Amino acid sequence: MQYSEIMVRYGELSTKGKNRQAFIGRLNGNVTRALHEFPKLTIRPKRDRMHIELNGEPSDQVMARLSQVFGIQNFSPSIAVEKDMTKVHEVALQLMNETAPKGISYKVNTRRSDHDFALDTNAMNLDLGDFLTDKRPDLVVKMHHPDMILRVEVRREAIYLSTKTIQGAGGLPVGTAGRAALMLSGGIDSPVAGYYALKRGVDIEMVHFFSPPYTSQQALNKAKQLTAKLTPYVGRIYFIEVPFTEIQEDVKAKVPEGYLMTVQRRMMLRLTEAIAKQRGDLAIFNGESVGQVASQTLESMAAINDVTTMPIIRPVATMDKNEIIAEAEKIDTYDLSIMPFEDCCTIFAPPSPKTKPKTDRARYYESKLDVAGLMTRALAGIKIQEIKSSDQFMNQDQDVIAELL
Ligand code: ATP
Ligand code: MG
Repeated sequence: MQYSEIMVRYGELSTKGKNRQAFIGRLNGNVTRALHEFPKLTIRPKRDRMHIELNGEPSDQVMARLSQVFGIQNFSPSIAVEKDMTKVHEVALQLMNETAPKGISYKVNTRRSDHDFALDTNAMNLDLGDFLTDKRPDLVVKMHHPDMILRVEVRREAIYLSTKTIQGAGGLPVGTAGRAALMLSGGIDSPVAGYYALKRGVDIEMVHFFSPPYTSQQALNKAKQLTAKLTPYVGRIYFIEVPFTEIQEDVKAKVPEGYLMTVQRRMMLRLTEAIAKQRGDLAIFNGESVGQVASQTLESMAAINDVTTMPIIRPVATMDKNEIIAEAEKIDTYDLSIMPFEDCCTIFAPPSPKTKPKTDRARYYESKLDVAGLMTRALAGIKIQEIKSSDQFMNQDQDVIAELL
């Protein structure tokens, strides 16, 4: 079946009253960017639906891309038919023959935006129901929970028919909630946290700390590749790398072992805040999960959080590791995340960090460091790179894993 358009139903944004125009405008921009590889498309954002005219572009590929755009509840590939009931019958039968297996239940559901059309919604439902009962006596008409719905839309320019509704990504259009900095390590949790930020409409930029020569180029590339995995949801993501070697060496030299982790994390958070403020980001996201490791007890979070008043959002805070892993698998970051390149924290991790660090002790040990100087030098060394989904920073994943085994 040659579909003529994809009809897109908006997600939560329909309920957002006067912000609606801004939401639709942003979604339109995001959809346009996500579908830029298909130049023949015409995208028409309307008040209650978005219509994507295919003009010959492949519907399957367009829909695969569309399913990653947040702010879309669901969508249906549809066929445009001339407003002539003989033609409508012909195409409806063809569509049902191709998509409705023998014996299933269905109903016809009509919407009409062209109120001048001869048949109203009820008359259209009955007409098509009668016609199909005649031509496909095997099908059962069922009003509640039918196996299939034949959707009919009577619009000014044509009548649109569809039998498929495909689940969209949900959430809010990326950018409608502003922008935040995501602390991205090479682990499992922070990419998942990034996915959830995007899902709620928050545009993100990655802040990644690395410590050459203690951490390898591969570890850095891995973080960039993880970023590339999230870009299809938004088009492009800025990756900000922050040199952390001097700070880690200095902390290691001057702070007692039990507080190494706490003080390192406080420095990371301070730097992230400084970068976020410089760039106009409104909040910080990270991948912390309550109780997962020593640095993520509530006491620890409090002692680390002490350095900033910026909102810190922890999307995976209350999830079990298994649940986070399941999400990582869904968004295809898991295999990358488990590749064994040491990141800066593992290398300087003390064997037994304090699980209940005290904020005043952390402040006291930190007073031995030249915090301002360390920060100025780290900030002077940051590098910013724009990452697109087609960017490759590692060999084929399999090759790299094979090399390591
Ligand atoms: P992840 O799986 O995200 O690495 P984790 O369970 O390994 O998390 P930690 O290493 O304790 O947990 O890190 C907690 C959070 O601190 C991370 O989710 C991330 O947001 C941030 N973080 C840790 N290391 C880095 C880093 N090198 N660069 C940026 N952020 C980091
Ligand atoms: Mg980690």
